[in-house]
Amino acid sequence: MRVGVPKEVAANERRVALVPDAAGKLVKGGFEVLVERGAGAAAFCPDEAYKAAGVTIADRAAVFSQADVVLQVQAPTPADIGLYREGGALVVLSLPTGDAALARQLAQRKLTVFSLVLLPRITRAQPMDALSSQATVAGYKAVLLAATATGRFLPMLVTAAGTLPAARVLVLGAGVAGLQAIATARRLGAIVSAFDVRAAVKEQVQSLGAVFLEMAIEEHAETAGGYAKELSEETHRKELAFLAAAVKDADIVITTAAIPGKRAPVLITAAAVQGMKPGSVIVDLAAETGGNCELTEPGTEIVRHGVAILGPVNLPSTLPLHASQMYAKNASAFLGHVVQDGRLRLDFEDPIIRDTCVTHAGEVRKT
Ligand code: NAD
Repeated sequence: MRVGVPKEVAANERRVALVPDAAGKLVKGGFEVLVERGAGAAAFCPDEAYKAAGVTIADRAAVFSQADVVLQVQAPTPADIGLYREGGALVVLSLPTGDAALARQLAQRKLTVFSLVLLPRITRAQPMDALSSQATVAGYKAVLLAATATGRFLPMLVTAAGTLPAARVLVLGAGVAGLQAIATARRLGAIVSAFDVRAAVKEQVQSLGAVFLEMAIEEHAETAGGYAKELSEETHRKELAFLAAAVKDADIVITTAAIPGKRAPVLITAAAVQGMKPGSVIVDLAAETGGNCELTEPGTEIVRHGVAILGPVNLPSTLPLHASQMYAKNASAFLGHVVQDGRLRLDFEDPIIRDTCVTHAGEVRKT
């Protein structure tokens, strides 16, 4: 079976779907791998490294037309749809939600398309969990952005020029990105606290050396799948008041709260920003899905009431080597799951296949 890896063409996308090491493992496993010339360059993976791993370097059209399965990070562009081999397969990190026209076009080319963000968060799917691997990168990078934007040290320093207290970092949302942000801020010596509506994360937060902020929540805020539920209006109002008080003490606030399939919840209102210390920094990882801070502007940094508010988009792409390495592991593991004896074996009873498969045999299965 031939696996093809085109160069990512989206603006500001530096990742590549397969790094040389992962490509070499596929070659050893009996796959033929075609990589577009220069596909890994922005992720520090030169063509020579792919060649040394047994990969064939090819031009873009050949990668698309000859591959049985194409591995990509970003969704296909309209210009590329015609390039895929009819009846082939595509494994991608995510497709734009609600883009029914794109799904229809992919189905018309009889492509079998898998979107890894739809992967169920079950134990046996963990090696394929690209949502987690990329959220790990985002959580780490968010703290580095905050550390660069703040005017203070993160660790406590005792120097001849005086004693400088450690920065106080507050992390809102302690899922995968939030936990990585906590761990990173702790490694930099900050005093860290965190809040999440899911009581289950309290121990995880504490095990990383952070304080879990407690707010009495009377409703059950977690789904059976382990995700957060949207809060009732009344509980959300209480949460906003609780967090408006909490952010006053913070030098840095990292927000990561998300509800799958919904707009991100607002956790910091404009009035709460006004109550923060001048020079504080908010890094809003939910900028792409509406923002956890009312004032966030996606893709840019603004200053309001003396507080810097960063709304970075596609943070994983800014750490392209390791983000690609992790994604390549996830995509390879997925390939290992769906390919048996050199052919795609699709058992739609298997939740890993059923939940991720967006189009198959000319039909749109998910939008
Ligand atoms: P996510 O990106 O959907 O959300 C991030 C965090 O925001 C979550 O912790 C959520 O509880 C929190 N949140 C939502 N609304 C909030 C609000 N109003 N106020 C404060 N916090 C709010 O979450 P994720 O990082 O993708 O992880 C979700 C779950 O999936 C977690 O339980 C995680 O442990 C689980 N998971 C399981 C596996 C597995 O294989 N079993 C793998 C990865 C993740």
